[in-house]
Amino acid sequence: MKSYLQLTRHMGNNALFLAVEMSLVSTLRGNPLHIHAEGLRGTGKTTIMRSVKQILPNITRIKDCLYNCDPEKPHCPLHRNLTPQEIADLGTEEIPMPYLEISHSAKIGTVAGSIDLSKITNPSQPEAALLPGIIPQAHRGIVFVDEINRLADTSPEITDVLLDVMGTKPGRVQIEETGLPVVEVPVSVSVWAASNPDEEPGPLAEIRRQLSDRFDLVVSMGRPSTPEEVVEILSTNEEAQGKDRELSPQERKRLEKLQNDLADIALQNGLKMPDYLTNFLANLYIKYNIESLRALEAIRQAALLHCALRKRNQVLISDIMAVLPLALNHRVSPATLTEIMNAVGSRIVGDQPIGDNSNKKQREASPSENREGQSTDDEAPPMKARYLRDLFGKGAIKRESEL
Ligand SMILES: [Zn+2]
Repeated sequence: MKSYLQLTRHMGNNALFLAVEMSLVSTLRGNPLHIHAEGLRGTGKTTIMRSVKQILPNITRIKDCLYNCDPEKPHCPLHRNLTPQEIADLGTEEIPMPYLEISHSAKIGTVAGSIDLSKITNPSQPEAALLPGIIPQAHRGIVFVDEINRLADTSPEITDVLLDVMGTKPGRVQIEETGLPVVEVPVSVSVWAASNPDEEPGPLAEIRRQLSDRFDLVVSMGRPSTPEEVVEILSTNEEAQGKDRELSPQERKRLEKLQNDLADIALQNGLKMPDYLTNFLANLYIKYNIESLRALEAIRQAALLHCALRKRNQVLISDIMAVLPLALNHRVSPATLTEIMNAVGSRIVGDQPIGDNSNKKQREASPSENREGQSTDDEAPPMKARYLRDLFGKGAIKRESEL
């Protein structure tokens, strides 16, 4: 398997690397960021999303708590009523941020929670207790769903659970078992999903519109666009092929550095959106008749994270530019998105000082970008209007000739 840092970055998948890193930082801060990668088979979306397991930062929980109770604010049925002293007596432990996957064969009990059979069948002390499912066990971490469009089509019950989890931040999950009182626990989980809109049953937005809108960001995956990128993919594939090899100490060190960087960034949580940018977003909302306020919240949250990852202390319009397509992809028509991007772009050219473009060349690297001096030029705001097809690469938009 390739390591997270070994995966080839190109125009078509850069935005996903950005999105997963933003989501990790946000999740550590206790503010989930839900992301959905849409793209054809072979664009590497699930590979990228799963390889993030190698860079999960640590969280501290009450020792052995299956719900990952934060010792500072315990929330689970077992610990929420304990005194600070009682919690201190239980002790704490560090674990990697949880990363769990919901498979298509999962039952509602596996996802939300069920009766704990080992406790009820314990001959010495039979007891009716709940076993938290995947979602409550992923509290303060990530839940990944591959082929979410198919899940939404075939498992309406699990889809409803996801809607509850993603409806508010933090969300909530209800554990229901016959004969036991219903237990509701808050969950702060970032939902990550992948799907191929060209395969059955079609795009998520058409299967379950409401669920599609709950994703803060949708990343349209594209293909590599230069022969050099393809050569790099092929040669690193060859290197990694067939061997489920151990990571070298050097690789381990670099992954650890990225992990620590992300944790440091998460701790610095003081960034604010300047008033003029908030007004700017409000104007976008009115002028382009954007349907959901969630879209604006997503832009705001993602722009702050984008700025934090670049280790700046001031949010710029270029931060908004970088995340706008991700937050609006699934919420406005392609034509409206082009219009918005052009309007924002020309505004940058019009009022020069807004987004500081004068030093466009001097880019701040995101923590994961400084590997082997490699960098990608996706973040610099365009100086003039770009065509939508250039924003997303090929494949995202159908041209007339293909229809
Ligand atoms: Zn607990």
